[in-house]
Amino acid sequence: MFDNNDDHQAQRKPLMFYVLIAMTVILLLNTFVFPMIMTRQVQVVGYSDFLTWIDQGKVKEVSLSQQSDQIIFVAADDQGQEQLYKTAVFPDDGLITRLQQAEVRFSAEIPTQNNVLLSFLISWIIPILIFVALGRVLSNQLGKRMGGGMNALSFGKANAKIVADKETGVTFADVAGEEEAKDALKEIVDFLEHPDKYAGIGAKLPKGALLVGPPGTGKTMLAKAVAGEAKVPFFSISGSEFVEMFVGMGAAKVRDLFKQANEKAPCIVFIDEIDTIGKKRDGAGAIGGNDEREQTLNQLLTEMDGFDGKKGVVILAATNRPESLDPALLRPGRFDRRIPVELPDLQGREAILRVHARNVRCESGIDLKEIARATSGASGAELANIINEAALRAVRLGRSEVNQTDLMESVETVIAGYQRKNAVMSESEKRIVSYHEIGHALVAAMQTHSAPVTKITIIPRTSGALGYTMQVDEDEHYLMSREELTNKIVTLTGGQAAEELIFHSITTGASNDIEKATKLARGMITRYGMGDFGMVAMETVTNQYLGGDTALACSSAYSEKIDDQVVALVAEARKKADSILRENESKLHELADYLLKQETITGEEFMRILNAPPAEKTEGE
Ligand code: ADP
Repeated sequence: MFDNNDDHQAQRKPLMFYVLIAMTVILLLNTFVFPMIMTRQVQVVGYSDFLTWIDQGKVKEVSLSQQSDQIIFVAADDQGQEQLYKTAVFPDDGLITRLQQAEVRFSAEIPTQNNVLLSFLISWIIPILIFVALGRVLSNQLGKRMGGGMNALSFGKANAKIVADKETGVTFADVAGEEEAKDALKEIVDFLEHPDKYAGIGAKLPKGALLVGPPGTGKTMLAKAVAGEAKVPFFSISGSEFVEMFVGMGAAKVRDLFKQANEKAPCIVFIDEIDTIGKKRDGAGAIGGNDEREQTLNQLLTEMDGFDGKKGVVILAATNRPESLDPALLRPGRFDRRIPVELPDLQGREAILRVHARNVRCESGIDLKEIARATSGASGAELANIINEAALRAVRLGRSEVNQTDLMESVETVIAGYQRKNAVMSESEKRIVSYHEIGHALVAAMQTHSAPVTKITIIPRTSGALGYTMQVDEDEHYLMSREELTNKIVTLTGGQAAEELIFHSITTGASNDIEKATKLARGMITRYGMGDFGMVAMETVTNQYLGGDTALACSSAYSEKIDDQVVALVAEARKKADSILRENESKLHELADYLLKQETITGEEFMRILNAPPAEKTEGE
């Protein structure tokens, strides 16, 4: 197991490794190779020869090197050319007298200074230069192989892209639709613009917000828009960039990123795909599984806790899998705000198309609403792509303006191209989903104990649900009566009941409702004493915290009876839902039509239509 501080070591290890190799090679060269090169022209002679040559007058100049115990001398060779020779120092008291007699110049220096410099250059400077160059080449190649312009010698440095304030250039006006997300983010902009206002009253400023939504819905754009609106620098890094080869590198990157951000405060730090590092920690790391990721996450948490909120560093993170995030990330003081960025509804899609159509030349009179209608479930990125594909098609066909056919054709290309046909619903599917959702809402509203509906939508959700009816209990309560539970089951069956009533057929769309209704009914009978068994526990909860699994605690004879009662309970609920819907069939049509057109309706709109006299025409179209 690595300790959290080991990243320092890991960070330096490659560099130390290079330096050690370089030192060893230089030493080897100095000991064995360079002396040979240096001494190639310096011939070694015996001491007796040296004395003879002095006597013969051949020796011109002598230098005693005390360091190496050598005598280096210049003497004329047989051809009369001056050469460099050397010989070992011999204990010889008469040498000086002999040299004086022969009138040879002598000193305790090496004859030519140039040689010293040269040898120093050759033996130290040049090898060092060679190794620095070699190191660079190697590290660059390593960096390229690791899939980025990263330098091996700069391990642990965050390669966060720094975009200066004027460069993001994105404002909220560029992000079409997504009004709720924009509203939530405006507060952050205000805080970045006027930090004193918040500090004055003692308010703790938000440190982080999580943008949650499917890919291509404009999360990155929104983050950039916050920086653009507040005119502050924008740091952007993707979660996957923290995942490194060496343990501890990711953590070092996090540290470096925050250091840079602190220097540039106020600023926005945007971490895309935070789920890559922020996944739930499950203890598997202890066996060596995901040590690196956990260290990175720990470092991120530490940094978020550590930095001074008053400085104005706001961290925005994006994910499309919020459920997989570690709960520690979502605690107050960290990413405590969750901003949903959902797929755009009809109006949103039209607005996005309009924003992007501004950049291409279009024929006058093109109908973007029609395109918006045909692309239910498409993301902002897909819509942007549709416009671009249409422009490409126009060019291909030799036209200078985009027309309606180009747009319609590119809807096909883009949507088929992405192979996400199920994400974009056909008109008939949308109709079924509308009735299904209104079925739930209507049944809920008609039962006195049911919670009021807050929002109904037929925009496909991140979770994979095609439609969604959001219900909020009026006040939170922990105890539920038998009636409330029964009503809930009735509401759950309302979707399929509506499908059957209107289309005389049912679809697979109710699987989740069925699961929930069964679970509730089963609980009522086996655990809450609301069935025919009285206060006898037929099932026990085995795992309170992890999903609340249950285990049967009765004989198989009773098990059959339980099943019978569950079936009867749900069937009765379904009957009740059927009758509620039959009684309110005209409202069901009216509301489902409205939802089909609007794609998302609020609880107030729903109640207004429900309570309006039957003949009244609905607004909105
Ligand atoms: P995400 O980060 O959610 O995956 P992006 O912000 O990267 O999505 O969006 C990708 C592209 O899609 C953007 O560059 C933009 O062209 C387009 N886009 C997405 N949503 C919108 C929107 N609401 N308004 C305008 N354009 C959008």
